[in-house]
Amino acid sequence: MSINSSFENKFGPRVRFKEPLAPLLAYGVGGPADVLVFPKDEEELSWVSNYSKELQVPITIIGTGTNLLVLDGGIRGIVISLSQAFQNIDRVESTQVRCGGGVSKGSLLEWALDRGLAGLEFSAGVPGTVGGGIFMNAGTKYGCYGDILKELRLFDFEHGPRTLLREETHFGYREQTAVGKSLVTSVLLELTPGDTSLLRQEVNRIIKERAEKQPLDYPSCGSTFKNPPQGLSAGRLIERAGLKGTAVGGAEISTKHANFILNKGNARASDILSLIALTKEKVRESFEVELECEVIILGEAG
Ligand SMILES: Cc1cc2nc3c(=O)[nH]c(=O)nc-3n(C[C@H](O)[C@H](O)[C@H](O)COP(=O)(O)OP(=O)(O)OC[C@H]3O[C@@H](n4cnc5c(N)ncnc54)[C@H](O)[C@@H]3O)c2cc1C
Repeated sequence: MSINSSFENKFGPRVRFKEPLAPLLAYGVGGPADVLVFPKDEEELSWVSNYSKELQVPITIIGTGTNLLVLDGGIRGIVISLSQAFQNIDRVESTQVRCGGGVSKGSLLEWALDRGLAGLEFSAGVPGTVGGGIFMNAGTKYGCYGDILKELRLFDFEHGPRTLLREETHFGYREQTAVGKSLVTSVLLELTPGDTSLLRQEVNRIIKERAEKQPLDYPSCGSTFKNPPQGLSAGRLIERAGLKGTAVGGAEISTKHANFILNKGNARASDILSLIALTKEKVRESFEVELECEVIILGEAG
């Protein structure tokens, strides 16, 4: 039986072949996945895992692509998206919440606000899934997922499902030591009691503050580079290197916030990649600072 018919028998309409990834990713760029599959539970993840081992093809996980630059040649092997499952949000105890890895951060925040649960306000305006948020330890000056994590449920493609306690992990600035090549299927978060209307006020304030500073009119992946150590700001270094407004093809360094690279309409991944390379080079030349990408680059050049 061919790989395509095995997958079709198992997943039906939840598998696609040579499927363009661009529509699934925030940047709206990127080539096709050989196989794009939407598993609904750990048994199906296990099936995909066995198949990938048997055929020796790699597995790549995508959330909503709000921190991903997939190159124009696309991704070889199997791409897993959680966007059609792992969507549960359950209150476990009065302040503990179990949440699927495919849940959007915004939905989780809304769920918590409705129930007067505090602790997620830091994530106001941060797009993407909770699983992606854990992988990136997404956060803002107000906090990050590592702060509220109690337990992590992972699917390890070598060894199957496992649970990790917060104490067994390290979460730092846009990094963690917990996930590796595993998939975050769910998290247990510890929140605190709060007042819904006060929490909403705070969330609205944060969203307004972000909208004033960030260029949200065009597709982007948020901050392209991590802030370098010693309290330096990547955005300020890029601005001081004179790069605001610099364009390659359809991609442009934002004139509003220099750490954002925007897709102004018809960018290819290669345009964004060229701007990333140019920015690194100019900042290195001007300030002897090596910028590190926060955006994750996957796939093959076109
Ligand atoms: C306008 C804008 C503003 C942003 N602001 C912020 C901000 O303030 N702070 C911040 O930290 N980030 C910010 N980001 C970046 C981005 O939203 C976060 O990194 C987000 O957590 C990525 O989630 P995602 O589901 O889109 O993951 P993706 O971009 O799809 O994937 C990112 C990485 O996570 C991995 N991954 C995704 N899901 C899983 C999973 N279930 N299990 C294991 N690995 C997984 C992927 O393999 C990939 O390596 C911003 C992005 C945009 C577009």
